[in-house]
Amino acid sequence: MKTFNYHSAKDVKEASKLSSSNSAYLAGGMTTIPSIKLGLASYRDVIDIKGIKSLSGIKVSGKSVKIGATTKHVEVAKSKDVKKAIPSLSALAEGIGDPQVRNRGTIGGSIANNDPSADYPSACIALNAVIHTNSRKIEAEKFFKGMFETALKSGEIIEAIEFSIPQKSNYQKYPNPASRYAIVGVYVAKHKSAVNVAVTGAKSCVYNDKDLSKALSNNFSSSSVDAVRISSSEMNSDVHASAEYRANMVKVFAKKAVEAC
Ligand SMILES: Cc1cc2nc3c(=O)[nH]c(=O)nc-3n(C[C@H](O)[C@H](O)[C@H](O)COP(=O)(O)OP(=O)(O)OC[C@H]3O[C@@H](n4cnc5c(N)ncnc54)[C@H](O)[C@@H]3O)c2cc1C
Repeated sequence: MKTFNYHSAKDVKEASKLSSSNSAYLAGGMTTIPSIKLGLASYRDVIDIKGIKSLSGIKVSGKSVKIGATTKHVEVAKSKDVKKAIPSLSALAEGIGDPQVRNRGTIGGSIANNDPSADYPSACIALNAVIHTNSRKIEAEKFFKGMFETALKSGEIIEAIEFSIPQKSNYQKYPNPASRYAIVGVYVAKHKSAVNVAVTGAKSCVYNDKDLSKALSNNFSSSSVDAVRISSSEMNSDVHASAEYRANMVKVFAKKAVEAC
């Protein structure tokens, strides 16, 4: 284990002040700690943000669900308010990892990490989320930049994620049998103005499938999915699933999600 300086920040201002190009925030530690232990990452300063009260909690208003960055997956899964407003979002949280991961992992840590197979990024895209940071608001479509890459600047802190409440939505995934990360996950959300179909696990970064979204915006029926061609050319191919298999899964899950809405 590499050595580092541990800091426990009392508020966002202090956390931000302590940050540098050689630091990491500690939310649940579900990625940060194993990365340090395995020698995949090393930091001079690790800044614990778990004790910052303003970063945790769930607020539901008429049009949106706002979730504080250090809110744990289990809290989203169990929240009666989230279940009522966006049932697919609490179901997604319930399907993350195992009880240990859900009791430590946080929504802010998940989206800051932007693992190509993580579940929450698809919810952010499908539910037109706005990422509130300590310096600005970022639309989800502009937040997820590439593999493990986001629009966050060095030291910028996610404070909350605000999801628009859709008319209908559903998330389908094929979980990795060991970790439960999505080998492919498809989140369909029907808003008043349009439908979003966000896909995770299939490519190097979560994306909104424009063709599926357009077809379902014109006619919200699983039969609309049949006419859409899903190219496998940029899809991941590994021991779990070939690119062609993943492309087929996107279509199958898009249909299933529409039928389950
Ligand atoms: C065994 C296992 C199984 C898993 N299965 C799944 C799964 O099925 N689906 C899924 O989606 N995920 C899964 N995960 C990921 C998990 O859910 C966590 O969300 C993820 O590991 C991030 O952990 P964390 O929230 O504890 O953040 P940390 O590990 O504390 O931090 C991760 C990164 O985010 C940064 N960060 C944290 N909070 C903030 C913030 N507020 N602002 C800015 N940057 C921040 C940190 O600097 C660090 O770089 C799994 C993880 C494990 C270990």
